[in-house]
Amino acid sequence: MPNSIRYSVVGALAALLVGAPVTAPAQTLARAEQRIRDHVTASTEAGIALLERSVNIGSGTMNHAGVEAVGMLFAGELQQLGFRTSWLSQAAVNRAGHLLAERPARRRRGRAAPLRVLLIGHLDTVFEGEGQQFVRTDSTASGAGTSDMKGGIVVLVQALKALASVGALDDMHVIVLLTGDEENAGEPHSISRDDMVRAARRSDLVLSFEGGSDSTAVVARRGSSDWVLNVTARQYHSSGMFGERAGYGAIYEAARILTEFRTALEGQPFLTFSPGVMVSGEKVSYDTTMMTGTASGKTNIVPPTAVVHGDLRFITSGQLDSARAVMREVVSRNLRGTSAEILFGESYYPAMAPTPANYALVAVYDTVSRALGYAPVAGNDPSRRGAGDISFVAPLIPGLDGLGVFGRGSHSPDESVDLTSLPKQTARAALLMYRLSLDPNRTRRRLTVN
Ligand SMILES: [Zn+2]
Repeated sequence: MPNSIRYSVVGALAALLVGAPVTAPAQTLARAEQRIRDHVTASTEAGIALLERSVNIGSGTMNHAGVEAVGMLFAGELQQLGFRTSWLSQAAVNRAGHLLAERPARRRRGRAAPLRVLLIGHLDTVFEGEGQQFVRTDSTASGAGTSDMKGGIVVLVQALKALASVGALDDMHVIVLLTGDEENAGEPHSISRDDMVRAARRSDLVLSFEGGSDSTAVVARRGSSDWVLNVTARQYHSSGMFGERAGYGAIYEAARILTEFRTALEGQPFLTFSPGVMVSGEKVSYDTTMMTGTASGKTNIVPPTAVVHGDLRFITSGQLDSARAVMREVVSRNLRGTSAEILFGESYYPAMAPTPANYALVAVYDTVSRALGYAPVAGNDPSRRGAGDISFVAPLIPGLDGLGVFGRGSHSPDESVDLTSLPKQTARAALLMYRLSLDPNRTRRRLTVN
């Protein structure tokens, strides 16, 4: 696809974000839906107790035993609902593992093939330790993972219980995949996210339970890729700078390249690229893993080395490809006496593009929210959310993220959750799944109109 078409697609999607609100039919609850909601409400304290137990098991990403123990806690809950569970070891990438749980639909004669729903979350937290235990104060609770995202997993589990309470779980095929390393994914991602990609390949849609809000759900997350620019030049006496023999040196060439990146690519919707670290001079060392380096030199030489390490954020894989092509082209046009190369992406997250199918899902979620008497819900601004686990499967199937609890201070030692969001998000998630699974063929048709 030519670049201009790609960008007009991105432009159209951007326009959609500020477009007309979705009209909402079915703004009342059917009898079964009222029973689902009532079950959620009646189970609020049980959900908070489950959250407390999970938060009180420390599960920082590299605490493998803790991550697995949290996995076993939720495995027990899911087994009670008839899920088959297994622990998928990730020893090959030095991570704890993932919990996989699956429950097939009850096949009924003459009925359409059931909807296949993938539900994802993560068991690990950034912080743990003393002072990170569950502390409840009125309608708030603090502790590691209260909102990011043990609270989200509790929403997921409690929603499934509510569906089971009216027999509705039998009408859908559900796969739950809880990763043990979302906060610091094992590398390569081709191994650590292989189980999730396989689960997505046999699902119709994915729902993810990262932190949510009253009025938005996540239809798009930008992807990210890092890049390293290596510039070399002739070392020469500074008095010869710009001349036939000395050329321009590595620092002027690095400056030219960065400036041309900016002038060529700045302003594309949702595309950003930032040089984060630069080391240059005569003698240079740089470690891309630790992102640390040293430089020394003299004012009277034309410097021979520059290294720049940066990131690149994008909204579609097409936008990533064309940005990389522009950057390679800029890097290839060297100033006299210099040469340069750019390497992309050891650390790579795909984008969750704002597709029409994702907007179709948020439209159903919005209807459900209003029917419950809660706020209207719209898709998020794609520039506001970074990459997450859903990014790995978003290129394969439609999805929605941000279905978890409302909280504060995620990725900080002051993390907390608004406990009133627990029943609210649980009811919204349960009814979303319920309505999507009522007429699976209609749902599949809606989600393939791309
Ligand atoms: Zn998270």
